[in-house]
Amino acid sequence: MDFPYYFPTTLREELHRTQKGYPALWEKGGGYSSTGKVQVIAGPQGEKKRPVYIRQRGELAGKEHALFVVEPGDLVVYIKRKRSDYMKAVYRIAKLEEDTAILERLHLFDFGQWDTDPPEAFQDVLEAARKKSWCYHCRTPHYAMEGGQRQEV
Ligand SMILES: [Zn+2]
Repeated sequence: MDFPYYFPTTLREELHRTQKGYPALWEKGGGYSSTGKVQVIAGPQGEKKRPVYIRQRGELAGKEHALFVVEPGDLVVYIKRKRSDYMKAVYRIAKLEEDTAILERLHLFDFGQWDTDPPEAFQDVLEAARKKSWCYHCRTPHYAMEGGQRQEV
């Protein structure tokens, strides 16, 4: 699974395209014996988004789980964990190019603290990402709207 090695102020993330060509990103990752790494997708205010596709087949443990159509303003949350030592980053999608999402970092957690505190509205997605980073061999999405997948894309 591709995963950023560290979290620069601007990050380029590979975009996927739905069947009808909409730009999309994956919720992916999970926990291992002493580490975890996750990517979780949320709306502009940290809200859950409705996935267009949830993977059910093939290798799922720690891989891609749910695909979300994204637009500028949406959030991409990363956590890298080694035991209880976390690096977390909250990015906002600034721009979508042909194959790439350009992400701008809003908040970074490193050396045990945030550079700037994320708003209260982001706590749910951050907590979901934290739990996913402890979910051993994670096989399912942790932060997705329930009630079926989007049909129109
Ligand atoms: Zn899980």
